[in-house]
Amino acid sequence: MPPNQIASYAAHALKSAPFAYLAPLRLADALDHLAELGEDARVLAGGQSLIPLLALRLARPGVLVDLGRIASLAEVQEREGWLVLGSMTRELQAERSALVARGWPLLGAALRFIGHSAIRSRGTVGGSLAHADPAAELPAVALALQAELVAQSKGRGERTIAALDFFLGPYTTALASDEILTEIRIPSSSGGFSFQEVARRHGDFALVGVAATVELERGRIKGCRVALTGVSDRPVPGSGTELGMVGEEPTPKLFRAVAQQLAAVVRPPSDLHGTAGYRRQLVSVLVPRALEEASARAGVGPIDGGGLSP
Ligand SMILES: Cc1cc2nc3c(=O)[nH]c(=O)nc-3n(C[C@H](O)[C@H](O)[C@H](O)COP(=O)(O)OP(=O)(O)OC[C@H]3O[C@@H](n4cnc5c(N)ncnc54)[C@H](O)[C@@H]3O)c2cc1C
Repeated sequence: MPPNQIASYAAHALKSAPFAYLAPLRLADALDHLAELGEDARVLAGGQSLIPLLALRLARPGVLVDLGRIASLAEVQEREGWLVLGSMTRELQAERSALVARGWPLLGAALRFIGHSAIRSRGTVGGSLAHADPAAELPAVALALQAELVAQSKGRGERTIAALDFFLGPYTTALASDEILTEIRIPSSSGGFSFQEVARRHGDFALVGVAATVELERGRIKGCRVALTGVSDRPVPGSGTELGMVGEEPTPKLFRAVAQQLAAVVRPPSDLHGTAGYRRQLVSVLVPRALEEASARAGVGPIDGGGLSP
């Protein structure tokens, strides 16, 4: 079947409701389709979240617009010191990228927590961000690294959305239905990083995950970012300034105090995987662990040593 041809599938052939399938070769054509079809169309990236939703009939788009043949969306590059990932960069491709490992190791560290390698070989960085699962790793990383997300539509052209403004709620982002997330741009960052997570089994979604970056100057904290996943309807950001860390020494006492602040403000869900109280307890354990590792990587370990709570 020619890739650009719409093919209707009979309802009985799949578990999903019937849909038509388009596989454009150019971004401009994909944007045309979304503009024409409106709410009836849905973008397909790696399919690791969308295909199960179709099979369960939790999503019933009339048309799927597959981005998989648009080569320009799968490039990984460095541009003026920024990491620029095409939205169709596979999670495994980013994880194995020498560029990511050299300059943006927090991203590489977090990617390893996503499902299993078979999932990551299909799932895309842009798909994970656009899907906005409240327990996903990459939204928290996007916040901690202050990523910018580039969206394009036929009618309004290109716009850049700060990660802070992108995640609006569970499975809800600032993207309009005619927009495609095309690029993820991440500024360079110096200093240390850490990604910590507790899940019930390897490859499961996080009960709680913490992404952290710490920059030190003369033994004191110059900058810090913390972002949590699994504890709210969207990733929760925190900056060193808001958390009273800037200018302070990176001590376990400070890190525990920061963790207590965060544990008090998050509103985690209670479900069969863990209670809200358990998730809050994980925040108070994982945040100090992440900050300790990030400051050790930034060049100076915690000043007064001493163990952190388990
Ligand atoms: C068994 C299993 C375990 C998993 N474990 C984890 C885990 O531990 N952590 C985790 O974070 N994820 C996990 N995932 C999900 C995985 O990371 C997915 O790859 C990701 O959530 C969605 O990416 P995708 O490319 O597959 O997107 P798709 O499933 O194709 O799309 C997801 C949604 O995003 C929209 N979308 C996708 N790309 C774009 C774009 N460029 N522009 C606009 N909208 C777009 C789609 O329309 C759809 O609504 C798991 C999945 C499976 C099947």
